[in-house]
Amino acid sequence: MKFETKVIHAGIEPDPSTGAIMTPIYQTSTYVQEAPGKHKGYEYARTQNPTRSVLEANLTALENGVDAACFASGLAAMDAVLKLLSPGDEIITTYELYGGSYRLMTQIFAKYGIKINFIDLNDKTALKNQINDKTKLIWIETPTNPMLSILDVKYICNLAKKHNIITCVDNTFATPYLQNPIDLGADLVLHSATKYLAGHSDVILGAVITADKELGERLHYIQNASGAVPGPQDCFLTLRGIKTLHLRVQRACDNALEIAAYLKNHKKVDKVYYPGFKDAHNHQVAKRQMKHYGAMLSFTLKSDTKRSASRILSKTKLFSLAESLGGVESLIGHPASMTHASIPKKERLSIGLTDSLIRLSVGVEHVEDLMEDLKAALGG
Ligand SMILES: *Cc1c(COP(=O)(O)O)cnc(C)c1O
Repeated sequence: MKFETKVIHAGIEPDPSTGAIMTPIYQTSTYVQEAPGKHKGYEYARTQNPTRSVLEANLTALENGVDAACFASGLAAMDAVLKLLSPGDEIITTYELYGGSYRLMTQIFAKYGIKINFIDLNDKTALKNQINDKTKLIWIETPTNPMLSILDVKYICNLAKKHNIITCVDNTFATPYLQNPIDLGADLVLHSATKYLAGHSDVILGAVITADKELGERLHYIQNASGAVPGPQDCFLTLRGIKTLHLRVQRACDNALEIAAYLKNHKKVDKVYYPGFKDAHNHQVAKRQMKHYGAMLSFTLKSDTKRSASRILSKTKLFSLAESLGGVESLIGHPASMTHASIPKKERLSIGLTDSLIRLSVGVEHVEDLMEDLKAALGG
């Protein structure tokens, strides 16, 4: 089945009890049993819920995996992945992470004896040198947030496999429409479905898709044991959003391509971070592992101050100033004071995340209106 068909049909059957074409919202906490232990596969809604099961089956198909587990948020999904580890285990990752992912590792899991090693995952020697017997997980995010640099998923996953290390790719920015990490060798794929998958800025939900059955079983065990499950209404909204994922992401990518080119030539703009440029960081890898370059981009100003950035951030009208991304509407944000405020300034600057860096989540509006909005805010 092709992707465009999967988003609408994979794992989705008419409701067996009524024939309802849309997956019903099973808003129930428990299920009646005929006799003790004799039930229809559903006992208690933390453990199983039919709306959630359909979403998990659909996501499994979209990422070419074998299983999936949904959670109350992207970070709850990540929390479950990190709970696969034990005290003494080590993680390898980079500073170029979603701020909340960095916080969860360093402020919560470090307390439980998990060591987190931050390196440049593009540096093959540094990666090889960092791997040791205790390394149990490599956490990959690509394109990275907010610098939009690209990591070579295939290379990292192949190396990890040789050392029996689990790899997890946060695929939130790319979406399964643009990139399928399991096909590139990853063991786990994480999504903040809050963003492109649900796609309408009205849900908080997370998911992990697994490449093998055993990891799926372990994650479902944690899902039930720790209990950070999403409600059925949110699962329904995510399923509804996914049906148009390919249309939304394609349009957003087309818009972003034009906006990136416009910003690159603007006299007030210093650097534009967008993986689609031929001279962008790891452009060739992006070309190989992604179907398009995504709809996220960042740029800095020649006048590299927070004040210059603030002036623009408060002037755009169609680009709303807000955290988050991946909805139908365009958003503009200031990572240094918003999404990445929890990362120390020294580390921020070391990856190029300066005070004037502005991040755009390009939506699906008409591109001419979006350009007009940016022109008015930037002046010229
Ligand atoms: C938003 C986001 C998360 C966290 O997801 P929530 O649903 O907000 O918990 C993780 N990774 C990336 C890349 C994100 O953008």
